[in-house]
Amino acid sequence: MSGTVLVLNSGSSSLKYQLVDPEDGSRLAVGLVDRIGEASSTIEHDADGTTTERHATVRSHQEALRTVIGLFDEVGPRLADAHVLAVGHRVVMGGQEFAGPALIDDDVLATIERLAPLAPLHNPANLAGIEVARELLPDVPHVAVFDTAFFHDLPAAAATYALDREVAQQHGIRRYGFHGTSHQYVSRTAAAFLGRDLADLRQIVLHLGNGASASAIAGGRPVDTSMGLTPLEGLVMGTRTGDIDPAVVLHLARSAGMGIDELDALLNRRSGMRGLTGHNDMREVHRLAAEGDEAARLGLDVYVHRLKKYVGAYTAVLGGLDVLAFTAGVGENDAEVRARVAAGLDVLGIRVDPERNVERGDDVRRISPEGAAVDVLVVPTDEEITIAHEAISLL
Ligand code: ADP
Repeated sequence: MSGTVLVLNSGSSSLKYQLVDPEDGSRLAVGLVDRIGEASSTIEHDADGTTTERHATVRSHQEALRTVIGLFDEVGPRLADAHVLAVGHRVVMGGQEFAGPALIDDDVLATIERLAPLAPLHNPANLAGIEVARELLPDVPHVAVFDTAFFHDLPAAAATYALDREVAQQHGIRRYGFHGTSHQYVSRTAAAFLGRDLADLRQIVLHLGNGASASAIAGGRPVDTSMGLTPLEGLVMGTRTGDIDPAVVLHLARSAGMGIDELDALLNRRSGMRGLTGHNDMREVHRLAAEGDEAARLGLDVYVHRLKKYVGAYTAVLGGLDVLAFTAGVGENDAEVRARVAAGLDVLGIRVDPERNVERGDDVRRISPEGAAVDVLVVPTDEEITIAHEAISLL
């Protein structure tokens, strides 16, 4: 092993980390500090087949990372012996500034901070993680890998909102797109799996996790994506509305007297599948729907309907389709959603083989029947390995 990359993903109240061998993709450790800033935080550290769980009060990201480094020392693998080549940080918003990964220095940090108003829920937490990590691991290069970078060169027709030009320019309002690391990884992996040249493929990637986004990718370059200025736009998600008439917001402000913070929480945290069914976990929604729960059934209908609309629209944008790839928690595991999205789309060449669709596995697999015009694939995403590769690409 020539070295490892420590991949860090700092959320507002969590710190996820993986120690990755970028050569063979193996994980030397995987862990999570959850509920930072609350009375009792949980720390889970998996290494060498053993899970270490702790409960403690972790007040800040700084304490969280100190605890993690302590765990590496205590139960291994020791970071000092792991030849850490770089720390790769997931950063959600890279704005117009970052078209690829960036070696972090004070200027890069200042730019990420300047972009915070565009991603108030994410960039400040990402920034806190970077600052702490640079302080505690000062001897290795730190690299920021942006969720938006893959979509940096989205065609103007797709990136531009039909909003007053001056207002848009003044406030940096455009479609930035998110989950870029995943869309990039999945589209490349799909081409490799099919033994096809990426340049020849028109692909739609459906990243369906708690957050969900669709992208249209031609020849390896994105030509449209469903998330916009923020991750709120597009598909129905675990707790977010996705597309909605913006006048709903005006209406609720005017006639229900809702303030900005309340609306923000409503649209981002109390809507989507949770708002429609009471649950953001799709397994629970299916369980209720099977019992005849009307709200759960309608929730699934709305979820699938939105996906179908995007598949149709993106096939049109691409002028045809070669690959439809499902990824992330729902995309990888939910055979019913996959089948329902594909149902009735024969007209677009999209068909799903019922037996292949229900087979489970951790590897890339084709779920369309032999000879189908569109290769429908399930591609387990791997954002951490992509972040690790992007990080060492700069060394
Ligand atoms: P995140 O966006 O948090 O990274 P993931 O990609 O891990 O999310 O997806 C988490 C979601 O995946 C869960 O909330 C749940 O809705 C869904 N999910 C996980 N396993 C299954 C399953 N077996 N069947 C259906 N949905 C699943």
